[in-house]
Amino acid sequence: GTEGAGTDRPTPHGILKSLFGHETFRGQQEEIIRHVWQGGDAVVFAPTGGGKSLCYQVPGLLRPGMAIVVSPLIALMRDQVEALRQLGVRAAAYNSDLGEAEVQALRRAMLAGEIDLLYAAPERVALPSFVAFLQRMPIALIAIDEAHCVSQWGHDFRPEYLKLGELAESFPGVPRLALTATADPQTQRDLVHRLRLDDARIFISSFDRPNIRFSIEVKDNPKRQLLGFLQREHHGDSGIVYCLSRRKVEETAEWLAGQGLRALPYHAGMPTAVRQANQDAFLKEEGLVLVATIAFGMGIDKPDVRFVAHLDLPSSIEAYMQEAGRAGRDGLPANAILFYGLADMALRRRMIDDSGSPDEIKRVERAKLSALLGICETAECRRNALLRHFGEHREGPCGNCDTCLSPVESYDGTVPAQKALSAVYRTGQRFGIGHLIDLLQGSDSDKIRQWHHDRLPTFGVGRDLDKTEWQSVFRQLVARGALEVDHDAYGALRLAGEARAILKGEMKLMLRHDRRRKAGRAARPAA
Ligand code: ADP
Ligand code: ZN
Repeated sequence: GTEGAGTDRPTPHGILKSLFGHETFRGQQEEIIRHVWQGGDAVVFAPTGGGKSLCYQVPGLLRPGMAIVVSPLIALMRDQVEALRQLGVRAAAYNSDLGEAEVQALRRAMLAGEIDLLYAAPERVALPSFVAFLQRMPIALIAIDEAHCVSQWGHDFRPEYLKLGELAESFPGVPRLALTATADPQTQRDLVHRLRLDDARIFISSFDRPNIRFSIEVKDNPKRQLLGFLQREHHGDSGIVYCLSRRKVEETAEWLAGQGLRALPYHAGMPTAVRQANQDAFLKEEGLVLVATIAFGMGIDKPDVRFVAHLDLPSSIEAYMQEAGRAGRDGLPANAILFYGLADMALRRRMIDDSGSPDEIKRVERAKLSALLGICETAECRRNALLRHFGEHREGPCGNCDTCLSPVESYDGTVPAQKALSAVYRTGQRFGIGHLIDLLQGSDSDKIRQWHHDRLPTFGVGRDLDKTEWQSVFRQLVARGALEVDHDAYGALRLAGEARAILKGEMKLMLRHDRRRKAGRAARPAA
């Protein structure tokens, strides 16, 4: 400041405007910033794109001393630090990228008070020697980004986060804030407790992204469905297509390019230079479709992504909201569309079973998966169903999701469900969906004759529904846990959960009628 004028003492608004070039704060930013500026602890739950970074950057600059920002990904750190330096902020990243000489130079700068924002990985901040070093200088605040990583309920548990709770004792009186875009109530409680932020003020923003239209479609011919969606709604737009595997990323990008779209692949198995070039092209050019694994996205700041499409099922609702949330950060209309089928459910289940995680975590992951499947199969407003998972209760249909825009009919599916379950039971729970449908429809296949299944009472009792309708019934039974796919036995279905109650007629089952969109001549069931 100059000559005691007092008027140009730094203020949150001053920094927002002069440094970051924004006119006004968004949502709860100003409240959070003032609270931390005054020395309070805070926990911030806000969706991706909600502007969480400013919540620690601004008070970090306002308070005396160096602010520490704990961030889990080196690439993300690098980008943030680079962007801050462009703005003239004295920011640095303390990570394994640095050579010995650079480390020494950075340590000298830190001790000399020449660094305002220091980014570091959680495993670094957990080191007693590093903590001891930080204790030699004034600390403005400690921000813990992606704080859901501390919880096993979060979709991205990282054990090194568990140590971060100890920072409460190592730096008494230093305000701490934890930030995350993941906030189902269980993760919220867990995070607050484990980071010892029980006395912190909690700021929860709505996770609603009203400008994003959510749609979920059953896979029939996914590439054609995707192409149709792009041609109908997103001519010349930028967007992201997520696939589960690297191979599928490459195939899909190639196929889209063959259809005349500008599409590029992105996954962790590509040469770094190519991957970086594709990311840069996506960020800079208009009208580019990036086909990616979930390796792409964390920390990516492209406001005009007009759509996010998932060709495979994500792992959880939280993961889905985070990935879909990369659409429409500029507030303009955007689409999030998800394609899924029975095979996806089975694959996700297998990934959990084969993960090698402790049983306790597998249980959590199975519960998360079934919550997502519940959203896929719901006949109610998708937005309401999604938000309820984050503890938010909206009244009335949103008017901007697929189920609101073209309501789904549901029907009393108790009898078809009983037929399907009894087909599974009578054949010894050893057969996959194709054979079971043959049995229900009374088809004269070799396999039916070989197993004498034409002698079963279930043979032919399901001629009233066609193949696609039966697939839908089976899928919905798997989604609600009444059937399980046994992947050790080539996709054989087994009774589970409510199956017995349904068979005994103890419960009524409402099922949804799948909407069917013509996917072109080559349409062929995929499940
Ligand atoms: P999050 O970390 O919550 O995902 P970011 O901090 O990356 O969100 O912010 C998302 C985008 O919103 C960035 O492009 C950022 O520059 C912009 N932004 C944040 N706060 C404001 C604001 N008050 N005014 C204008 N733009 C903002
Ligand atoms: Zn809706």
